[in-house]
Amino acid sequence: MNIITRKKRYRECDNRYLWHPFTQMKEWAGEPPVIITEGRGSFLKDINGRWYLDGISSVWVTTHGHRKAAIDLAIKNQLDKISHSTLLGLTHTPAIDLAKQLVATVPKGISRVFYSDNGSTAVEIALKMAFQYWKLKGVKRKTRFLSLNNAYHGDTIGAVSVGGIELFHKIFSPLLFKSYRAPSPYCYRCEPGKKYPSCRLYCLKTMENIIKKYHKEIAGLIIEPVVQGAGGIIVSPKGYLKGVKKLCTKYNILMIADEVATGFGRTGKMFACEHENVRPDILCLAKGITGGYLPLAATLTTEKVYKAFLGRFKDLKTFFHGHTYTGNQLACSAALANLKVFKKEKTLQKMQKKIKTLKNGLTGISRLSHVGDVRQKGLMAGIELVKDKKTKKTYPLKEKMAWRVCNKAKERGLIIRPLGDVIVLMPPLSISDQELKRLVQITEESIRKATE
Ligand code: PMP
Repeated sequence: MNIITRKKRYRECDNRYLWHPFTQMKEWAGEPPVIITEGRGSFLKDINGRWYLDGISSVWVTTHGHRKAAIDLAIKNQLDKISHSTLLGLTHTPAIDLAKQLVATVPKGISRVFYSDNGSTAVEIALKMAFQYWKLKGVKRKTRFLSLNNAYHGDTIGAVSVGGIELFHKIFSPLLFKSYRAPSPYCYRCEPGKKYPSCRLYCLKTMENIIKKYHKEIAGLIIEPVVQGAGGIIVSPKGYLKGVKKLCTKYNILMIADEVATGFGRTGKMFACEHENVRPDILCLAKGITGGYLPLAATLTTEKVYKAFLGRFKDLKTFFHGHTYTGNQLACSAALANLKVFKKEKTLQKMQKKIKTLKNGLTGISRLSHVGDVRQKGLMAGIELVKDKKTKKTYPLKEKMAWRVCNKAKERGLIIRPLGDVIVLMPPLSISDQELKRLVQITEESIRKATE
């Protein structure tokens, strides 16, 4: 089969057999797909041999770049031993080694690791763990959760129940369990219409009012620390996270930090909670945990929570939860190598200069006439497009403006994806300064072209 026929076949088969996530397939079928065949460093290669800059770290997972030799090798070495055995009734060395390493890496006081295989399951586990914890403590009424508007914690029913993105979650509302919502710390579109810093974190006061009223029912508060990712890269103002932690402590609520997106260096520190010196009671990790190689997740907690589940077999205090591929050996080996690279290559230190480069680039972008707001924490940035900069009026859905920008970027060799009207930039932490400048330059040009 010649190369042209081969490419055509793949496109036909994609249209014939695949159903892509978060994708309107009717529109998808009308456009030639980028079919990826290879990756290296910050780049992806398609079936035509064209290279693209991976501006979203393959949906926020790639830490040290594609085909990182140390991670490749760790997986290959593990392949020569065993690819998978279970953690149900057995254990294995990569899971033990990684648990020890994770406990040494996360904020002090978090000491137990429960594995699963994606961000949503990490969240489901956190919710069930918090729920059962209070049952085991004899506190019967604490059965509900508090989360934030614009929150995103995954796509499974439990995770959607604590989600706060209308666009994704509304249709499923009859399926969801009831939970409470606090305002999003979204300063650009402040819900009570205040201004930071004169607001003195008014959103926290609203949160406290909800908690005051319902704390006897609230088992846990779940939050994406510092940055609400899928809600539009909403960066919370300084002091907000610390304030949330204080409320949790004051009202005896377990704090669940969902660091699925923010963990593993993404915000410039290993974990976003470190920015405000906060130690959650439960911590959810996934995405960057394996450097972007394999599905793995972990829900970590304190000895206090863990010990509540201890008892005799017949007491039935056991945490009855576990996914088949939980703590898979290949994934754990990749995760161990990922952590090693962070240390060996001083990834977090090296990132600091890149964070500044991105900041400088974003300053230019913020001046564009259809850019309402730019938000950044570490190598995580959101550019909010508006039809009218003065009134902050949004683009009508049918204009698909953010998609148009991303399509322009694709033509220029950059892969990015929007969230609503927000253009997301999330390059691999290993991106070079030069590549980063290119990413910013293409983004700026694409916004100009699409909105002119
Ligand atoms: N929590 C957060 C904060 C996320 O950003 C995501 C995914 N974007 C998830 C949970 C769900 O992770 P997964 O897609 O691996 O289920």
